[in-house]
Amino acid sequence: MRIARYAQAGARPEFGVVELAEDQGDHPNTVSALTGDPMAGPVNFTGERHLLDSVRLLAPVIPRSKIIGVGRNYADHAQEMGNAVPQSPLVFFKPNTSVIGPGDAIIIPHASKDVQFEGELAVVIGRIARQVPVERVHEVIFGYTVANDVTARDLQKSEPQWTRAKGWDTFCPIGPWIVTHFDAAEAGSQHIKTSIDGVIAQDGNTSEMVHDIAHLVSFISEFTTLLPGDVILTGTPAGVGRMEPGQSVAVEIGGIGLLSNPVVGEDAAELRSDDVSSTVAPDDTSDSGDEEADTSGVNNPGAVDLDETTTEFDPE
Ligand code: ZN
Repeated sequence: MRIARYAQAGARPEFGVVELAEDQGDHPNTVSALTGDPMAGPVNFTGERHLLDSVRLLAPVIPRSKIIGVGRNYADHAQEMGNAVPQSPLVFFKPNTSVIGPGDAIIIPHASKDVQFEGELAVVIGRIARQVPVERVHEVIFGYTVANDVTARDLQKSEPQWTRAKGWDTFCPIGPWIVTHFDAAEAGSQHIKTSIDGVIAQDGNTSEMVHDIAHLVSFISEFTTLLPGDVILTGTPAGVGRMEPGQSVAVEIGGIGLLSNPVVGEDAAELRSDDVSSTVAPDDTSDSGDEEADTSGVNNPGAVDLDETTTEFDPE
């Protein structure tokens, strides 16, 4: 099954089940609406179905508590960066406010001159879980999606903590949907490639991970409780490179899908945001044309009573 989150003009985001033509079912290229968030509890079909082309796909999940990244988990990438492969997984956090969806713009901040793409397999957690043994990890995984662990490489090199380098707004595109029918062995043996303006830059296989999916989830759950909707980024193969405003970056994983995002400069993004009421939820409101739609709480379930308008302070 493929679980997507989507919005129609003026409507609240909904979850749905995607059927593609390749499934050879009765409803190709559609999304069937669900009554709620399948990561939060049992859901049913509402009976509504939309053509995939007629809806806007959003990030398939906004992590309730955290995104955990894993550094240097492909030997050839560690090598290209001049680093050794770590004995234990090297983990870091990205804030849930860095998440954007398919087609949303990655914004290059003025603070960095070297923002790079990192195509990665993302694991979406389905249950509250702590200290999960390797052999039981399959019980806590909801599914898999595609991610781009966008990284300001210059900040990563100049600051000992990676919080800014990895955590800037828009630095975590995920999507286009969550595949729930793969087990860890299937997800861990897929072609993964990243292209910039259509030219392939990264070309690897998820089987090349140093620490595999089960070991990563188990290791991370030793120190932090995993919640439904949390996302683990499993590392990137060799071939990372810089993105410039005006370019388009796409990450594709076999059997899961293609995640494509345009890249814009911060100045262009400010111009574009003039007609957007909220920078917390730009993906859900920017083209809805309906300023009354209250989508902020749905977009970011971790936030409580977000005011619809985010105040931006101009630097002195
Ligand atoms: Zn990464």
